[in-house]
Amino acid sequence: MSVRELVVLGTASQVPTRHRNHNGYLLRWDGEGILFDPGEGTQRQMLRAGVAAHDLNRICVTHFHGDHCLGLAGVIQRINLDQVPHEVTAHYPRSGRRFFERLRYATAYRETVGLTEAPVAADGPLAVTPSYTLEARRLSHPVESYGYRLTEPDGRRMLPGRLAAHGIAGPDVGRLRREGRLGDVTLEDVSEVRRGQRFAFVMDTRLCEGVHALAEGCDLLVIESTFLDEDIGLATDHGHLTAGQAAAVARDAGVRHLVLTHFSQRYSEPEEFERQARAAGYEGELTVAYDLLRVPVPKRR
Ligand SMILES: [Zn+2]
Repeated sequence: MSVRELVVLGTASQVPTRHRNHNGYLLRWDGEGILFDPGEGTQRQMLRAGVAAHDLNRICVTHFHGDHCLGLAGVIQRINLDQVPHEVTAHYPRSGRRFFERLRYATAYRETVGLTEAPVAADGPLAVTPSYTLEARRLSHPVESYGYRLTEPDGRRMLPGRLAAHGIAGPDVGRLRREGRLGDVTLEDVSEVRRGQRFAFVMDTRLCEGVHALAEGCDLLVIESTFLDEDIGLATDHGHLTAGQAAAVARDAGVRHLVLTHFSQRYSEPEEFERQARAAGYEGELTVAYDLLRVPVPKRR
């Protein structure tokens, strides 16, 4: 069975705390690993979470503030040290290319791995694989910031009752699936649409169109909630969201599992983020993230 889960490596904004590392999130999606926003200390957090450099196929950076990218130097060197046998692709806002280059070549090391840079300069798809399409959407933050979204293509689920009613069994089922028709029975007659799963990663941003577009219909949404609602003025000024704002987005988008993260060090009680998210009317599954947490992508409906 394919594994789809989020591994939380760090949950602090701006500065790490005694309990929270800088950001870092690994999404396991079938055989692939996508690392989002590796902040400082990500290499060690990977070790603690049982994530190897070999697990990484893609790195997605939302923007070039340190809490989202200072770990690149260590992670990229580790990928090379371990001689990861497959190619790794990195996405980041093109306007920050000089920062990426500096982090990639921060110190001397032996480059052994093909690391492809595929910078983002506009909304739209970045990669299409059999199990997902990866796309970016512009966010609203003092420096250029992009959120990311994975959409699995819709499939079809065979309906055993209908197959039986048409007397279709054994190898004929596979043939019908491949060819779309068997005699006068079509695939549509004996199956239904199985909606592809959706995941989005929304970091530093104030409310904007991109936030809603990324969140739409997500099975799993990871979204920043740097501030509590009473500090909404600060949030808006600095280009961030509050717990209530993030939860309202998830509520309107029909998100099934909401993961709040990227907390300001000014708050010591995570329960308050949960309380405010519920007060905003979000009724799906809710997780206030902490370091080394694993969150499975919800089972298909
Ligand atoms: Zn940040």
